[in-house]
Amino acid sequence: MDVEFIKKHLVPHPDFPKKGIVFLDIFPLLRNPIAVETLITNFVHHLTSSTVAKTPNHKIDVVVGLDARGFLFGPIIALRLGAAFVPVRKAGKLPGQCHTALYEKEYGVDSFDIQVDAIQPGQSVIVVDDLIATGGSAKAAGELVAKCGSQVLEYLFIIELAFLKPAEKLDAPLYSIVQVE
Ligand code: IMP
Repeated sequence: MDVEFIKKHLVPHPDFPKKGIVFLDIFPLLRNPIAVETLITNFVHHLTSSTVAKTPNHKIDVVVGLDARGFLFGPIIALRLGAAFVPVRKAGKLPGQCHTALYEKEYGVDSFDIQVDAIQPGQSVIVVDDLIATGGSAKAAGELVAKCGSQVLEYLFIIELAFLKPAEKLDAPLYSIVQVE
C-alpha cells in the first residue's frame, strides 16, 4: 500500500529529455510531505531491519548521496540513522583533494568526485540516489568508496529500471522501492 502511494507521485514524461526516453519525475513526491515521510520510513525500516545486521557495530556510518537528486533524500536518511552524509559530485565541484571515478553516459564519459577524507577506511557505507538505470553512476560511486578504503554495504534507490539489469554492475545488493520491468 505504501509503495502504491509512493508510485502515485512518480510522474512519467514521454520523450524527455529526448525522443524515446520516458523520464520518471520524482519532484511531485516532494510536494507531498506525507509521501516523503512514507518514502523515508520505507528506506529506514529496510535499513534498520535488514542492512544494519550486516555491519560490524550494527550501525551505518556513512550515507553517500549521488549528484544531484541523491542530495534530496540522502541527508534525511543520514539524520534518521545518526550517520554522516557524504556527497559524490560531478567533476570539479568539490574543493580540496578528491578521488575521481569515470562512468559512461549515453554520449561519452563523465566523472564523479569524492573528498579523500570524507570516508574513513572500514566504515559502513550505503549509497543513495533517486533512480538507477544502467547502474553506471552507482558503480562509479562504489569505486570512489573503495578508493577511500571502504566498501559499499548496499545501494538504495526509489526507482530501479530493472529491465536494464543494473544490479549486475554492482558489488553489493541493490534495494529499490519501485521496480520498472
Ligand atoms: P545510470 O547511471 O544509467 O544508472 O543513471 C542513473 C542516473 O540518471 C541517476 O542520477 C538518475 O537521477 C538519472 N536518471 C536517469 N533516468 C532518469 C529518470 O527517468 N528520472 C530521473 N532520473 C533519471
